[in-house]
Amino acid sequence: MPNQKPYRLPTTVIPERYAIRLTPDLAAATFAGEERVFLQVREPVRQIVLNAAELEFQTVSAKGPDGASFLGTVTLDSENEQAVLNFSETLNPGTWELQIAFLGILNDKLHGFYRSTYKDPKGQEKVLASTQFESTDARRAFPCWDEPAFKAVFQVTLVVDLGLTAISNARAIREMPLSGTGKKAVVFADTIKMSTYLVAFIVGEFEGTDPVMVGNAPLRVWAVPGKRHLGKFAQEIGSFSLAFFWRYYGIPYPGDKLDLIAIPDFASGAMENLGAITFRETALLVDEKKATRAELERVADVVSHENAHMWFGDLVTMKWWNGLWLNEAFATFMEMLAVDVWKPEWRRWESFTVSRAAAMQVDGLKSTRPIEFPVEKPEEAAGMFDVLTYEKGASVLRMLEQYLGADKFRDGIRLYLCRHEYANAETTDLWDALEESTHEPARALMDSWIFQAGYPLISVEKSGRSLILSQRLFRYLQDGDIPNRQFHVPIFLRAETKGGLSQQTLLLKDAQTRVDLPDDVNWAVVNAGGHGFYRVRYSGDLMEALKGGLQTRLLPVERFNLVNDVWATTLAGLTPLTDYVDLLELLRDETDINVWTALIMSCHHLHRIFHDQQDRALQERLRGILLPAIDRLGWSPKEGESELQRQLRGELIAALGTLAEDKACQTRARELYAEYEKDPTAVERNLVPALVSIVAHTGNGADYEKFYTKFKTAKTPQEETRYLFALGAFRRLELIERTLTLTVNGEVRTQNAPYLMRSVLLNKDARERAWSFMKDHWSEMLRLYPDNSIPRMCEGVVGLVTRELEADVREFFKKHPVKQGAKQMEQHLERLRVAVAAKERWQDLLRG
Ligand SMILES: [Zn+2]
Repeated sequence: MPNQKPYRLPTTVIPERYAIRLTPDLAAATFAGEERVFLQVREPVRQIVLNAAELEFQTVSAKGPDGASFLGTVTLDSENEQAVLNFSETLNPGTWELQIAFLGILNDKLHGFYRSTYKDPKGQEKVLASTQFESTDARRAFPCWDEPAFKAVFQVTLVVDLGLTAISNARAIREMPLSGTGKKAVVFADTIKMSTYLVAFIVGEFEGTDPVMVGNAPLRVWAVPGKRHLGKFAQEIGSFSLAFFWRYYGIPYPGDKLDLIAIPDFASGAMENLGAITFRETALLVDEKKATRAELERVADVVSHENAHMWFGDLVTMKWWNGLWLNEAFATFMEMLAVDVWKPEWRRWESFTVSRAAAMQVDGLKSTRPIEFPVEKPEEAAGMFDVLTYEKGASVLRMLEQYLGADKFRDGIRLYLCRHEYANAETTDLWDALEESTHEPARALMDSWIFQAGYPLISVEKSGRSLILSQRLFRYLQDGDIPNRQFHVPIFLRAETKGGLSQQTLLLKDAQTRVDLPDDVNWAVVNAGGHGFYRVRYSGDLMEALKGGLQTRLLPVERFNLVNDVWATTLAGLTPLTDYVDLLELLRDETDINVWTALIMSCHHLHRIFHDQQDRALQERLRGILLPAIDRLGWSPKEGESELQRQLRGELIAALGTLAEDKACQTRARELYAEYEKDPTAVERNLVPALVSIVAHTGNGADYEKFYTKFKTAKTPQEETRYLFALGAFRRLELIERTLTLTVNGEVRTQNAPYLMRSVLLNKDARERAWSFMKDHWSEMLRLYPDNSIPRMCEGVVGLVTRELEADVREFFKKHPVKQGAKQMEQHLERLRVAVAAKERWQDLLRG
C-alpha cells in the first residue's frame, strides 16, 4: 500500500527522549549538532522516517537493546521535508538509541534556528541566535518527529562562547568551560514530555532581570544589552498571570523556571516555548512612564496569552493542526480573563468587543472557514493563525462561559486538562469534559459554532406581548445563494415592558422562535452584555425605541454592537447609508472609547470608499460629532480622569486632525508637538500618538526627516514603531517614495517591513503608488520577508477601492498565488469586492 499521506510520518517508531547538543557559530551563521534519540521500535523496520530540512547529515547509527550497533544511510525527501534512514539489518521491536551528527545553517528567515542582529549601546553590530519552531520548523534545527502528537522529553546542551548567555526550555544544571576553545557547554535539565514545536534555544549577549518567584519557578525577563530596564512591567504581569492561571486551572505551572526573552527580529508576536517564551521587543519591553495605555495593554495581553499556553498548548496539546483553535482560542480567552482581573479599570472584556468585531468582519465573507478546519499538509497549518482561530475562537468560548456560568465552565476546563496532561487531545475531548462536569449539552451548542463557518444575523420584531426572533446566516455579499445554516444561539435578552425590566437567557436552535413577555414591550436588547457572536437587526419601532435612549437603555458594549451591526448591514446593502450616518449623529454625547472606536473605524472604511465630494461631506459631519466631544474632554488631562478617558482624548483628536481634516486641530497639534519635542513631559503620553499622526498627515520634507531620525534613534521599541509607521502616513508622494524604498533596502527589519507596506497600501493618498511598488518588488519581498507575513501584508489590498485597481489586483494574484495563505488571500479579495460594490452603490449619495 503506498502511503496515502506522504507528508505524515509512520508510527512504527516512536521517539521518547532526545539528548541534543548544538554548537552554533554566530559569525559564520552555521551550527553543528549531535543528537541521541531513545526510541520505541514497535514493529520490525529497515527504515526510520523522520523530519529534516536544510540539514546536512554526517553520520547515522542505531544501537539496539542487545548493544549491537548499525550504521545507517540517509535518503532526503526535500518535498516532504523528511529524511529516510536506511539500515542494512532489520531493527526489531524494543528500545533503540539513534545517533545522528549533522550540520545546519542559522538562517535569516526568522524560522527554525535563525540569526537576529542588533546594535549594542556602543553602536556595534551584534548577532544572536534564536529559534521559532511553530508550526513545522524544529526540523530545520535537528532531525526529529516534527508532529505535535510525537511528544517526548528533551535534554539540551548548548556549546557557546564563554561570554554568551544560553537559554533553553528547562533550567541550566551545569556550565562547563571547554578548555582551550574559549567555549563552555551549558547543560539543561530534562523537559516535561512535550511537542517538538515547543523546543527553544536562545544564544547571545543577554541581560536578565532579577528573578521573581512564582511558586518554585523563578521568572525573569531577558533583553539585549541596554534594554533590561524595560522588562519590569512584563515581569509584573508575567508573575501575576502565571499565579492566576495556576489557581484557575488548579494545576501547578508545568515548567521548572520561566524566562521571557525579547528577540530583536521576530516573525510573530510571541511564541509559547515551554519555560522559554520568546517575544518581539514591542510585545515585552516597555517604559511604563512613557508608553500609552494601549501599548502597555499590548504587553500585558501578549505576556498573559503566552503564560496561559503553558497549560493550554504545552501541557495539553492538539493532536494535529486542525485543532489549533484549542490552543489559540483558549490562550486568547484566558489572556482577557487574567488582564481583566489584573487591571479592572481597563475593562478588558469590553475592549475585546473590538477584536470580536474584526473576526466578524472576516467571518461574514463567503470565503470564511469554520474555526476547526481540515488541515492536511503541515504547511497548511500556517494559514490557521488568523482572527478566526484566535478572536472568533475566544469569542465563542466567552459566549459558552457566559451561558454555562463561569464556575461550571472552569470546572470543565480543569477536568479536560487533568485528563490529557502530557498528552494530546481533540475538540471532542473538550466537550466530553465540559458535559461531564456541567451536565449541559455543550457539544451540540458548540459544534454549530466550531464546525460551521459564519454566524447568524438575528432579526427581532414585536408582536403584541411577544418578540419574534429569527436567524439567518449573515453575509456581506448578497448574491443570492446564502446557505440555510442554523446555529444554537445563546440569546441574552433584556426588555422593558410596562411592568418593568425583564431579563432572560434562552437558546435559539430553530430558524425562528417566539419569546413571550409579561406585558407590552417598550424596548428590548438582544445580545445583552454583548457576549454573543452574532449580529442583531431590530425592526423599525424597536430600533427607534433604542435610539431614543442610547445612553440610558444600552450598556456601552451594547452601543458598540448596535453601531457595529448597523454598519455591517449598511456595508452589506441591507441598511441605507443615510440611516447609518444618522445613527452616528446620535453619538455626539458618547463617552465610551470602544463605541468611538467603532465609529472611527467605520469612517476610515468610508473614507477609503468615498470619492472627494463624499469625503468632504463626511469630514463636515465628523467635525460636527467630534468637536463637541473633544470640547467636553478638553485637550489637557483632568484631575481624576481614567486612563481610558486619556486614551479617548488621543483617539478623538487624531480622528479630528486626520479623517475630519480640521484645520484648527491640525495647527494646534503641530504646536503641541513642537512643545513636546522641547519637553517630553509637556504632553500627556496618551496624546503623543495623535500628535505624531497629525504631523505626518500634514507633514513636509522637514517633518519626514525628523521622524526618520526619531525612528533610527528611538529609545524604546514603542517609540521606534510609532515613528516607523508614521513614515507610512505622510501624503506627499515624494516622501512616500522614500518610505517604500525603506521596505526593501534593509533599513527596516523584515519583522516590520511587510506591515509598513500594508499601512501604505491603506493610505488613500499613496495607495496606487504603493500597489505598483509592491508589484515591482514582489519577488524581492518574498525572498526577504518571513513567510507568515506575506498574506498579512497583502491585507492592504482591501484599501485599493476602485474598479480598475480591483481588476488589477485579481489579475496579479492569479499570476502570483500566495503560498501558505490561499484562504486569507481569498478573503482579502472578497473584502475588496464588498468595498467596491458599496462604492458603486453609494456614488450618488452624501455629496457635500
Ligand atoms: Zn498563542
